[in-house]
Amino acid sequence: MSETKCRVPELFGSRVFNEETMKQYVSSSAFREWKECLKNGQPLSLYVANDIADGMKNWALENGATHFTHWFQPLTGITAEKHDSFISPVPGGKISMDFSGKELVRGEPDASSFPSGGLRATFEARGYSAWDPTVFAFIKDDTLCIPTVFCSYSGDALDKKTPLLRSCEAVNRQALRILRLFGDTETGKVISQLGPEQEYFLVDKELFLKREDLRLCGRTLFGAKPPKGQELEDHYFGSIRPRVAAYMKELDEELWKVGVLSKTKHNEVAPAQHEMAPIYTDANTACDQNQLAMEIMQKVADRHGLVCLLHEKPFAFVNGSGKHVNWSLGTDTGHNLFSPGKTPSQNAQFLLFLAAFIKGVDEYQELLRCSVAFAGNDHRLGAQEAPPAIISVFLGQELEAIVDSVISETDYEERSKGSLRVGVDVLPPIPQDTTDRNRTSPVAFTGNKFEFRMPGSSQSIAGPATVLNTIMADSLAEFADALEAAGTEKPFNEALHDLIKRSFELHKRILFSGNGYDDEWVAEAEARGLKNLKNSAKALTSYILPKNIELLSRHGVYTKAEIAARHEIHMEQYCKVISIEAETLVDMVQHGILNAVSNYISHLCETISRKKAALPNAPCRVESALAESLSELNESLLDTMVELKSTLQTVPSADGETLLAYYHDKVFLRMEQMRAIIDKLETLTASEFWPYPNYCEMLFSV
Ligand code: ADP
Ligand code: MG
Repeated sequence: MSETKCRVPELFGSRVFNEETMKQYVSSSAFREWKECLKNGQPLSLYVANDIADGMKNWALENGATHFTHWFQPLTGITAEKHDSFISPVPGGKISMDFSGKELVRGEPDASSFPSGGLRATFEARGYSAWDPTVFAFIKDDTLCIPTVFCSYSGDALDKKTPLLRSCEAVNRQALRILRLFGDTETGKVISQLGPEQEYFLVDKELFLKREDLRLCGRTLFGAKPPKGQELEDHYFGSIRPRVAAYMKELDEELWKVGVLSKTKHNEVAPAQHEMAPIYTDANTACDQNQLAMEIMQKVADRHGLVCLLHEKPFAFVNGSGKHVNWSLGTDTGHNLFSPGKTPSQNAQFLLFLAAFIKGVDEYQELLRCSVAFAGNDHRLGAQEAPPAIISVFLGQELEAIVDSVISETDYEERSKGSLRVGVDVLPPIPQDTTDRNRTSPVAFTGNKFEFRMPGSSQSIAGPATVLNTIMADSLAEFADALEAAGTEKPFNEALHDLIKRSFELHKRILFSGNGYDDEWVAEAEARGLKNLKNSAKALTSYILPKNIELLSRHGVYTKAEIAARHEIHMEQYCKVISIEAETLVDMVQHGILNAVSNYISHLCETISRKKAALPNAPCRVESALAESLSELNESLLDTMVELKSTLQTVPSADGETLLAYYHDKVFLRMEQMRAIIDKLETLTASEFWPYPNYCEMLFSV
């Protein structure tokens, strides 16, 4: 035991080319210049790039690497890599192992098959990857992985990282303006910080392989409700079974090796569901590491005869998986800008950042909703197990009372002696409750950060984080403009108070502390004018609202062309996913279910005739009732399948919106009808005739 304890510090980051390692392998002048470049955002000189490349290569070779790759995050949502070996021929038929600064800094993967949403003409299929020196390179599977951004020949972003970096820069820029207005001259940088809680399911690999739907779609397309699901809530935080514990142990070790600060692990609500949460870090690193973590989770599972399912809803009837994205802004001096302070000035600054966040969420509800809109996540949002599809913000009782008091200029609590004057009064202590006080809220304030609970388990956190950063940057910019303009006209505290009060008044409608699962909330939200974009087909069309395009381009996060391209890709992705699921379902019904049920029916009929021959007076009620029900259900399954097939063959050549509606209303909803029939068939069919592992086996076998 003590052995593992001691090993962790050495294990941690052992596959990462971090600062410590750099100091050993790179000249001190190059190291200094690299640090300098990070600080002021300047490009590195080729001389330094060469030095770092050489150091990286030597370290990588000593650690068994033979290849290098520019590791990037295209719009598929997963990571991509093209491996090149270090070998280079030398006279005499030998080789040397080489890696130049040029190879480190820039790559040209042939990228014609990555989604570009029309940003790349086919004659210029090439994509360019460029080293992101702000995060560390690492070794994975004998390959040196260099984190990179990925763009087209004309410089358009073709990846998830570029807009994230731009949004970090935007929020840094605007937050610094505010801090300067408060007289802060120390802070050099404001950092967007993320801590993603990753949920996942583990299933037995042998069972997984028998389910075409799990293999092709990542989720079961049918499956009768098992006698036991999560009703007893005996799995949540329950003791971890040995096979899962062994998996989690190895997972931690692998994550630590590549520098992921894996901290918390536990069983989740649904049977076979678990969670891993790392310690939060800067958004760029957190995003890279979450992508890496998802990959490692799947690899380690395979070594344990398991499969790690990252889909948002692998199984009906039990909870799906999300990825709570905890988000805050911190300074390079170590201060959290969402921490309520102790002095009137600190409080005022906190309230200003709070007001900015609330304003941003209210004004850009649709964009935030779009950042989590994709086919897989539709099964969670609004399904009484995850936040509703309506965006709102939960502040907790104490903070909401403070907001009310600022607005109404009345007592915020009995013990206070008057209204709360921003910049003059001290806030009452705000308890930092670490428990999830309102699990039904999509965006919850949890002491010193916001927890965005809508993102799905499989998705990159770059998109949601990009939106959070950008809406924050926008509110802060407007506030800074207003305060700068107020200038000498009004005392600063006066201007500040008015600004915060007005902002709370305007955007209070987005605050909600009640039960988000309640039907009453749907009606109330509508009365408040909040958007309820129930599914991706409904949500995605608002991605390109003029105000969203203006917001994103105003802060340099996306160009107009990039937004149009991403919109195109999201819509296309949605239609493709539904289409693949439908094709898979048709295939399984056609080749598996119809025949299996028919075989069982004929088995029942044979039983009836044998019984009748041997025992003329014996009743055959069980066999005949079953055979009849099954025959009827199987016929209607055939009918709906034929309908689904023809729906798939007659997809209209329509524009985005109509096409999304078609896939949702005609294809997806028909699949749901089929599922209902199949689940009944499964319940009635003898296990030995049913061709697929059932929910009970899959959820309770690990
Ligand atoms: P929960 O009660 O939701 O489990 P925790 O406090 O355990 O909350 O934190 C969950 C995640 O939030 C972890 O990844 C943690 O590192 C992260 N986190 C904590 N503080 C911050 C912060 N200031 N900014 C961003 N993420 C944070
Ligand atoms: Mg949480």
